[in-house]
Amino acid sequence: MQFDDKVAIVTGGGSGLGEAIGKELAAKGAAVVLSDINLDGAQRVAREISDAGGTASAIEQDAGTKEDAEKVVRYAVETYGGLHLSVNNAGISGPAAPAGETDLEAWDKVIDINLNGVLYGMRYQIPEMLSAGAERCAIVNMASIHGTVAAIGNGAYTAAKHGVVGITKNAAAEYGPQGLRINSVGPGYIMTPMVEGNLSPEIRQQLVTRHPLGRLGRPEEVAHVVCFLLSEEASFVTGAYYLIDGGYTAV
Ligand code: NAD
Repeated sequence: MQFDDKVAIVTGGGSGLGEAIGKELAAKGAAVVLSDINLDGAQRVAREISDAGGTASAIEQDAGTKEDAEKVVRYAVETYGGLHLSVNNAGISGPAAPAGETDLEAWDKVIDINLNGVLYGMRYQIPEMLSAGAERCAIVNMASIHGTVAAIGNGAYTAAKHGVVGITKNAAAEYGPQGLRINSVGPGYIMTPMVEGNLSPEIRQQLVTRHPLGRLGRPEEVAHVVCFLLSEEASFVTGAYYLIDGGYTAV
């Protein structure tokens, strides 16, 4: 299978996009480490993968801390013998407020998890990938359409996701010469607990109309693109920011 002999980390793997990505990677042969601040969620996904014949395990992580980023990489290497693929996906939406009324603690938390967490992940993942043979390895970082357009009333989310696009380009340029590919993705609004738990029916309908395809996305539609970017089929793709947005940013 496509990812046989590969070991993958998916942060925020206990729900939504991380769950769909972890399941597709495992179905295509990878041994998958699902990390999440919600250990129960990650354990449920790992169990479902094992029940379906795949290989996965769960570990608790706060993606906003440096120590946990190192812990997860060490766990992957000790459990499965190396690290080849990672998806730095964990993220939160944060409370709504215009810039001049920002709750500063909430700002720090969104930046810690959504932006710093991506760098903390790469900081410990990249050295392991270089020793495993960088050309066999790849990273995808989870941005959003708000890596290129504003999320009105949520500047921390917009700033963090723009930062994810930027650090992805930097890392891709820095490790391209060794053959390590690093990309980001920019989903539009996707039906996950993050979106379904936060939106009133009216706002959800307004969002639907902003996607020219006339609907919100499904987690599997993001997972397919992420798995493509992690695969050999994307062998000349690096530093890219792939929109998966039903046309949201085209208009
Ligand atoms: P979700 O809430 O369904 O899943 C997020 C997961 O991350 C949860 O399991 C949660 O427990 C975990 N998590 C939260 N804080 C964490 C932390 N500090 N450390 C580790 N894990 C933590 O949300 P989702 O929609 O699947 O979002 C996943 C990622 O996709 C996020 O980065 C989000 O910003 C991004 N995204 C989502 C959408 C969307 O419309 N759903 C669109 C674009 C980007």
